Parts: sequence; C-alpha cells; structure tokens
Amino acid sequence: MNRFFTRWSRRQFLTTAAITPTAGLLATGCQTAPTEENAIPVDDIYSRLGVRPFINAAGTYTALTASLIPQEVATAMHEASRQYVSLGELHQAAGERIASLVGSEAALVTSGCAAALTQATAACVCGSDVAAIRQIPDTTGLKNQVILQKSHRFGYDHAIRNVGVDLVEVETREELEAAISEKTAMLFFLNFANDQGQIDREEFASLGQETGIPTLIDAAADLPPVENLRIFTEMGFDLAAFSGGKGLRGPQCSGLLLGRRDLVDAAYLNGSPHSNSVARIAKVGKEEIMGLTRAVELYVEKDHEAEWNEWESRVRTIIAGVSDIPGVTANQFVPHIANEVPHVAITWDSTRINLTRDDVANALREGEPRIEARPGAGDTSRLDIGVWMMEPEDAPVVAARCSEIFRDAVA
Ligand SMILES: *Cc1c(COP(=O)(O)O)cnc(C)c1O
Repeated sequence: MNRFFTRWSRRQFLTTAAITPTAGLLATGCQTAPTEENAIPVDDIYSRLGVRPFINAAGTYTALTASLIPQEVATAMHEASRQYVSLGELHQAAGERIASLVGSEAALVTSGCAAALTQATAACVCGSDVAAIRQIPDTTGLKNQVILQKSHRFGYDHAIRNVGVDLVEVETREELEAAISEKTAMLFFLNFANDQGQIDREEFASLGQETGIPTLIDAAADLPPVENLRIFTEMGFDLAAFSGGKGLRGPQCSGLLLGRRDLVDAAYLNGSPHSNSVARIAKVGKEEIMGLTRAVELYVEKDHEAEWNEWESRVRTIIAGVSDIPGVTANQFVPHIANEVPHVAITWDSTRINLTRDDVANALREGEPRIEARPGAGDTSRLDIGVWMMEPEDAPVVAARCSEIFRDAVA
C-alpha cells in the first residue's frame, strides 16, 4: 500500500465515521456502520475510473475542480436530496436567506458565476417581459448593448454575449458617456481588472447611478475578503456576481447573484425552472441551492483571521522545506485582487538548478502523492504554490516533495 492510499484511507475513515447517515454519498451501498476495515477510501471512487486524485497546491481552478466542500455542506446537500420541494419556492426562500446573511437587497443562487453573468445580462435586456425573455438571444427591438472597458474583455464575457448583446468597448470616462444610448442595457465591470482600466470600480458604480444604466460587477474569485459580499452593492453596483465553488466552498456548480430586487427577480425569470429562457441550460438543483445556502452561512460565521493564520502557517512550512537548498528562494505573496490569500513563490537560480517551471510541475504531478501546483508560464524559474485549498495535513507533504525535486536537481 503506497503512502498516498494510506493517507487518504485514514482521512476517509474519519470522514465516514463522523457522518454515518451520509456515508452513502461516498460509499454507495455501504449499509453497515463503517469501520477502518470496510471504509472505502475517498480516492477509490475516482480510481474505479482510473482517475488519480491530487493534493491541490494550486487554488480554486475550475479545471482542477476548484475546492472541496466542508462536511456541513455535504450534509446539507445530502439532506436536500431526500425530499421533494417546489424549485420556485426554494429559489425564493434561499435567495431571501442569503440576502439577509450578506446584507443585500436580494440574492439568486445560480449554477456558477458565469451563469450569474448570463442571467444578470438577460435581466438588464428583458426585465420580466416574458415575450422578450423568450425571444433572446434574438435582441431585435430590445436594448442590446453592454458597455465595458477594453481591458475588461475576458474569456467569461462569452456568458454575457450568450444573451445576444454586442459588447461596446471604451477606454475613458468620456468615451463611456458618449457610448450610452437608448440601446444600452448594462455597464459591465470585471473586478479583477480594476487596475487595468482608466475607470476604477467606485467611479464606474457612480457612473451607473448617475446615468441610471444598471451595472454588473464580476467578483467571481474575490472572496475573501468576506466584506466583498456587501462592498460592491454598497458602492452602488446594481448587481454583483460570485462563484459558489471557489472561496465560498459551496458546491462546484453554484454561484451567487446579489443586488437590486427587481433585477434579481428578472434574472430568476431568465433561468431555470423557466423552460423557455436563455439560462435554462444553467439549472441548479435543490442540492446545490441548499449546499450554497449552507456554505454562505458557514462563510459569514467563520473566523477569517484564524483561517488566514492557518494559511500563513502552511506557507511557512513550505518555505522552510526548500529555503536551505542552494540557489532556491521562497517567499510569501498575496495577489492584489482575486485569490487574495497567502501563496508561496519558489524561484531558483537556473544556472545552478537545471529545471523549468514545467519540469517541477510535471514532477509534482507524476510523483507520489500527485500534487498540482498553481498553473503558470512554463519557461520561467518560478513555481507558485497555493495553500488555501489544501487539506490540513497536506502542507508538509508538498514541502517534502518540493524539497526532494529541487535537491535532486542541484548541480
Ligand atoms: C471563475 C470565474 C468565473 C466563472 O465562475 P464559475 O463559478 O466557474 O461559473 C467568472 N469570472 C471570473 C473572473 C472567474 O474567475
């Protein structure tokens, strides 16, 4: 039995023993109370398909499945799966609960931040006009332009374009004001790009207020800080969109749209359970709705300072593991916006250590246990490690593997 299997078996045993009623989620058909002998290792469900799990030393990357839900969220999803409810009633009630928790006028659970962008845009184009809701993405006769700064174009703006709108790119405040017409449905702001445009978020929000055009901010990866759940709408954005499966640690297929009640209500009409709507393809089930509601409760109650200290302690463990290797330097850094949590940057002198970033990342990926580092450019002598999505026991393992790889390569 290899190290990896042993480690995960132990974890699964503890998990299963703690939540016997939900053991079926992980160990289908397990009728008896699990013991260390009969517990199915958590990685087993994946290994049945030949898929090898890994330690997440990257962060909340969707392609790496982003985050793990806490046990309380798994329990909420399991309990939700045991009874039927009206999906409309549930959307309404969960929205109210979440809105009151975060101090927003209204809230809607979506299938992700991307879905929230689509539903928010559709709300700004169609409102609650059923004929318009059915007509889009054909926007004939409707407001069909969304204005944004050129530097705020990004991959996920496809979610906005799905509604059938044209994106109008501007660079200055003057250009933005001149671009506004009777065709303007919405002004869009990408929080991550705040520093890359001439109009910052405060000015953008107040432009929306002054002109009366609805504003939407994408803050998908901007939790923590927890304050962001209220800051953007307080600042004057009509709508703010977040991922549920990143820092919030809700279900992977969940997201959150917060803001003005009329627009949030219209966003709901533009998605499931309404069959003839643009975002019907982004359905959320009762399990995700209850899971995200629980995740938001946990997130607003959590001791964020203690969690930050824990992340810093993991960072120190990894730094300590590599910093005495000749030619290797390791430092803590915190990204300025998005994934604003402690990370480790490992850099090395390529004249002494003949490794590229990809060499190290591949060695971590192919080793035992498998480890995924933060994605990055391949040709540099720098590897970033994200610690916040690790499980508590992972940091020493990652430190040891990094140490091994670099020590072996010292010329
Ligand atoms: C992750 C991300 C999204 C998409 O979020 P999902 O919840 O996966 O749909 C959108 N915008 C930004 C800036 C993101 O980082």
